[in-house]
Amino acid sequence: TVFRVTCTPIDSAPVSAVLTSLEDVTSIETASQMRRDFVANVSHELRTPLTALVGFIETLRGPARDDAAARDRFLEIMAREAVRMNRLVDDLLSLSRVESEERVRPTELQTLPEIVESVCLSLRPLAEAAGVVFDIGLAPNLPQVRGDADQLRQVFTNLIENAIKYGGSGGVIHIQYDLLARDPNLGSAAVAVTVADEGPGIDTIHLHRLTERFYRADDHRAQSAGGTGLGLAIVKHIMNRHRGHLKIDSTVGKGSRFRISLPVRGK
Ligand code: ADP
Repeated sequence: TVFRVTCTPIDSAPVSAVLTSLEDVTSIETASQMRRDFVANVSHELRTPLTALVGFIETLRGPARDDAAARDRFLEIMAREAVRMNRLVDDLLSLSRVESEERVRPTELQTLPEIVESVCLSLRPLAEAAGVVFDIGLAPNLPQVRGDADQLRQVFTNLIENAIKYGGSGGVIHIQYDLLARDPNLGSAAVAVTVADEGPGIDTIHLHRLTERFYRADDHRAQSAGGTGLGLAIVKHIMNRHRGHLKIDSTVGKGSRFRISLPVRGK
């Protein structure tokens, strides 16, 4: 707990006096600490690719000026670092947009299997390059849910991209639809979509922190996969905005399951 102590001299008192007040400013302090941490994290995340870019530019202007093979290799790395910075800025903008819209509930009716299938179609080249195939379950008579189509697309893009990135090559990504009479996390009927991979899984100690901004369970693997550490934070905020829920289960050595559920309400 953080207290702010204010001392005010009182001149009008017959004897000289000081009024001392104590104010609980814990929540203000926590918010400003979070803001400081966020800015420090963003700066760090941007500095890494920028340092690499500056280093390679210097090398290309100096020692590697006439080395065509080195130039091609360095340009390739520079392009990758620039893509990483671009992705980071895109993710930061998405996060800030969904956070600022969190109080506004989406009203349009959406058909989740349509959104999921269009995302799978867009991600097929990435999946093929990683040697991963999709196994999409049946979705008989699922009711529509209220949602923002772009944001729901982003949810499934982030979850399926992660399953491709971390799921290991040669694996299968299982997508399953369920109609829950009552989702205990929402206290109402819900449509659930599960994205499950057959990857290395995630240790239990990380599970509850995965939706924090910039949290990575395996820094090395996430860095080499080009992740920003913001994908699941974005999913969580979009779910909050939709009054939905994200549930993560994982077994090391077997794989991970990310299930989102969205409430089904009357027409
Ligand atoms: P990133 O951009 O790093 O992928 P995310 O917020 O999407 O960030 O994910 C946070 C971390 O959770 C990742 O860095 C990774 O360590 C872990 N993770 C996410 N999805 C999976 C998955 N399907 N299998 C294993 N680990 C995962």
